[in-house]
Amino acid sequence: MNKEINIFWFRRDLRLDDNIGFYEALNADYPVLPIFIFDKEILEKLPKNDARVNFIFNTLQSMRKTLQKEHNSSLAIYSGTPIEVYKEIINEYNVNTVYTNHDYEPYALQRDEEIKKLLNDNNISFKTFKDQVIFEKNEIVKADGNPYVVYTPYMKLWKKTFDSNSLKIFYTNSVLHNLIEHTRLPNVTLQDIGFITSGQNISDYDVTPTLIANYEDTRNFPAKNGTSHLGPHLRFGTVSVRKMVKKAIAEKNEIFWQELIWREFFMQILWHFPETVTKAFKPKYDNIKWRNNETEFKAWCEGKTGYPLVDAGMRELNETGYMHNRVRMLVGSFLCKHLLIDWRWGEAYFAEKLHDYELASNIGNWQWVSGSGVDAAPYFRIFNPTTQIQKFDKNHEYIKKWVPEYQELTYPKPIVEHKAARERCLQTYKSALN
Ligand code: FAD
Repeated sequence: MNKEINIFWFRRDLRLDDNIGFYEALNADYPVLPIFIFDKEILEKLPKNDARVNFIFNTLQSMRKTLQKEHNSSLAIYSGTPIEVYKEIINEYNVNTVYTNHDYEPYALQRDEEIKKLLNDNNISFKTFKDQVIFEKNEIVKADGNPYVVYTPYMKLWKKTFDSNSLKIFYTNSVLHNLIEHTRLPNVTLQDIGFITSGQNISDYDVTPTLIANYEDTRNFPAKNGTSHLGPHLRFGTVSVRKMVKKAIAEKNEIFWQELIWREFFMQILWHFPETVTKAFKPKYDNIKWRNNETEFKAWCEGKTGYPLVDAGMRELNETGYMHNRVRMLVGSFLCKHLLIDWRWGEAYFAEKLHDYELASNIGNWQWVSGSGVDAAPYFRIFNPTTQIQKFDKNHEYIKKWVPEYQELTYPKPIVEHKAARERCLQTYKSALN
């Protein structure tokens, strides 16, 4: 019989340090084989030049190099369905325990149940840990045990419960010697998984400098580089949320800290209400008679609605995989309210394009803009796409960058007239909700 080992399974926590499940595995009794699985079922749905797949691929290769060079070990990278891969691993190794971190998405929960069953049937333990959030599931709930569906009281209790002094960082450097010795572990190339190099990049996030100076003053103006661009790094776990919260507190960046709490707010909503992935949180909103005009949807996707701030946002998204939060709110509202297109269409488009796409945040925010979600603004509050320019891009810097032709004859006429679209929206929503 081979020597016993433990496995650590990397998923949305692609870092070697301050990774709780990894730390626990390294502190257990057997040498650790770190693995990652490119899940065929997820990859099948993505464009072949997906920047996020490139990012994951490059991050894994760099982790692999670090482990080989500095720790005489490596990282095994597989592709296939997780069940198939685990069957292969069980055949090859004498596994005692599989360690990993929690993933709260409905698909992941089901996947983990299946893997746990397979492992347990083979007398292998499956241990999972909280890593991607400070508080999860039922940790911040109302006195009666029900989940919060309004952000402010959730945020207040979150802060009250949080004790920054006891927030531990899980340094792994002194235990990395507990990895299995370097052998020829499986690796894959982008070609092996059917992908090609992307034209877009997700840049490294440097955790060393201060977060974002003057975040509170600059974060609402899309022309300023006033937000952190941390999204993809929190999504794939290339930075640890504990370190970010510690930093926000040390730098007295209260507003930034509260944004990180929004992230956890939506994660616990998804955990408690997984049906909101496809259904309105407020069921009456599923009575809305969406127009779902495909030509208008195409114009929205391409940034050709004739409303320059909406178009600038969509073009920024298409070209870079990023869109400023202010503009996300506007384009979302415009799609659902001015065009009366189902928020699920917009959600799917963002899921395809955003480098920081994250199910809980995307669903939560889309339901928020359409009015159907938790803590959403009343439906009759409709962003005016023209006055938003006065407020957030007064000098048209952002618009000029993404829609240089916006004052020329070639620029499309507005696809809907604001006042008429507003009235139509109010009527449609009213008749669905009454
Ligand atoms: P910063 O302003 O620097 O914020 C720091 C971090 O706080 C973010 O990276 C994010 O993790 C968190 N955060 C900030 N605002 C929010 C918020 N409203 N909800 C949840 N977390 C937040 N965010 C995603 O991470 N993934 C998504 O798929 C996503 N889809 C969205 C869809 C719509 C329609 C809207 C209106 C917002 C969406 N957001 C999403 C929230 C927000 O726009 C982004 O988190 C933010 O713009 C990312 O840029 P940043 O990292 O520079 O943000």
